[in-house]
Amino acid sequence: MLAESRRNHPLSKIPGTAVFFRRFGDNTDCLDYIKRRRWGDGLEEFVCPDCSHKHGWWLRKRGLVECRGCHRQTSPTAGTLFHRSHVPLWKWFWTMHLLAGCREGVSAVDLAEQADTTYQTAWTLLQKLREAMRQRNELPEHKGLTKTAETEAKRAILGKCHAVSPKHMDKYLAAYMFRGHYKGKKARFFDRLVTVAVEAKPLTFKELTTGAK
Ligand SMILES: [Zn+2]
Repeated sequence: MLAESRRNHPLSKIPGTAVFFRRFGDNTDCLDYIKRRRWGDGLEEFVCPDCSHKHGWWLRKRGLVECRGCHRQTSPTAGTLFHRSHVPLWKWFWTMHLLAGCREGVSAVDLAEQADTTYQTAWTLLQKLREAMRQRNELPEHKGLTKTAETEAKRAILGKCHAVSPKHMDKYLAAYMFRGHYKGKKARFFDRLVTVAVEAKPLTFKELTTGAK
């Protein structure tokens, strides 16, 4: 029991590849992790979307929370960035793992190779996560970059990702600033990314490609 609860606590350090796949290689494990980030270890923050009852059971095998009041079953991914994604959760987690672990960011070409996806899927995963970071750009150091810092950031971004359309640049800048904020704290960055994705609204491909608001 203790081992089980310890296993699911926030990461104390970013796992290496083998440990990552032992822990997040399975959809159920990813769902469990999202559930904990969203509603707490013991579902303390769970509220049924149907009847507002505050108690639920975790049906681990099904990856759903069942409301004790009306018995409606809710997925931890409902209404989050992961909502109805056709991409397996481990690929989302692997993307967040790479984003948190790489010093210079991740390009869609790199991700497509690492996660065995098409370029478009990799691009979409990264853009969705960048957009979620842009929406949660509440950290004080994200508020305003000096002109010099912004020029430097853009140079680094273009060096890594080559062609970035100006309408998407603010997403790349948000990711760049998150990375700067969590420098040397990869595990915290990873946890923060999961939280940011949980708190973000689901995004359609169309919303992503039409650019920032
Ligand atoms: Zn209910």
